[in-house]
Amino acid sequence: MADVLLQKVRKNYNPAVLKDTLRNINLDIKDGDFIVFVGPSGCGKSTLLRMIAGLEDITSGDLMIAGKRVNDVPPAKRDIGMVFQSYALYPHMTVFDNMAFGLKLKHMDKKEIISRVVQAADVLGLEAFLERKPKALSGGQRQRVAIGRCIVQQPSVFLFDEPLSNLDAALRVKMRLEISKLHQRLNATIIYVTHDQVEAMTLADKICVLSPLKANAESNLEQFGSPLELYNHPKNLFVAGFIGSPKMNFLKGEISNIQDGKCEVKLITGERIIAEVDATSGSVGQSVILGVRPEHLVDKDSPLATGGKVMGKVMVTENLGAEFFVYMESGASEVGSDFTVKSEKEIEVAAGEELAVGIPSSACHLFNADGIAFPRTAVYKRN
Ligand code: ADP
Ligand code: MG
Repeated sequence: MADVLLQKVRKNYNPAVLKDTLRNINLDIKDGDFIVFVGPSGCGKSTLLRMIAGLEDITSGDLMIAGKRVNDVPPAKRDIGMVFQSYALYPHMTVFDNMAFGLKLKHMDKKEIISRVVQAADVLGLEAFLERKPKALSGGQRQRVAIGRCIVQQPSVFLFDEPLSNLDAALRVKMRLEISKLHQRLNATIIYVTHDQVEAMTLADKICVLSPLKANAESNLEQFGSPLELYNHPKNLFVAGFIGSPKMNFLKGEISNIQDGKCEVKLITGERIIAEVDATSGSVGQSVILGVRPEHLVDKDSPLATGGKVMGKVMVTENLGAEFFVYMESGASEVGSDFTVKSEKEIEVAAGEELAVGIPSSACHLFNADGIAFPRTAVYKRN
């Protein structure tokens, strides 16, 4: 078991073009934490994981595992285990031999090998399959063997790079639960890469949100915090738009009044919305973006609609039985982005109609023109 500390970590694959992939990555990962790296494709999640594993050089900065600087320590000596998206089992070997292979290479005592493989098989529910070859296993079982291969090494830190992305949707959900249980049982430090934010929200103790690095940006680490911190208090527009599904709605406007712990926003469509945010650092007339999550919108006449209401034109409705979605167009939205309502009850409305929806003032987020969030003074809770 071990802490992992990253200080000012930077990666540049090609110094000739001076274009960094990762910059100023600072992460303090505690022993036993389940950490998830999320971000759009190409933002550097795998690169960061591979640097921790030692498979990729660190251009500058420090990487400490269990208190020791390991920048120049080879992968095999870092006490880490890695599971990849493509689990590449040896097809001619049984499940047992696939799991035992790495230990045999280390000339480990036979009894110890058997004991570790049997124990890992027990944790992963693979006892009945030890004599099978990989081709006689399902995708989920194969992925478990790949994880087993890692567990038997008893590493201090487990690294997973999108381990479930090759599995179908139902199996992903099942394996997600398995991995969560595994973390509880092993009590190990896990760093897990995914682009699936449901996986991130459900598995993580803390989520690290990365964005594709912009030329002059100080860093592409957008926020590092617990799933609920990121959901309730996204620091900026990027995190607000990335965490939560469907995506947070964004409406353009300007600050029209600032009060203690509250702020009135006049949308470009003219509607006035009260947001429970501390906008004292801002000024009246300043351009802002108001954010509200689809699941926090309420009926326009509801007493919960304390912030006001917005109008939109209904484009599409979707009824999923347990959930109901309305995709609208609002003149205050960014061009090309929908205004989405998620409701537990069916909303009686048809495509082409105008719909007014209510906004609770405590459900609002507010961002300045640079996309930085004003602190919220309340957090809306659905009953
Ligand atoms: P992610 O895992 O978030 O999708 P990656 O870490 O794989 O992103 O890639 C981040 C960026 O680094 C991408 O622009 C990718 O093209 C680049 N990159 C990845 N590996 C290499 C490499 N070996 N050499 C040069 N560029 C690379
Ligand atoms: Mg990747």
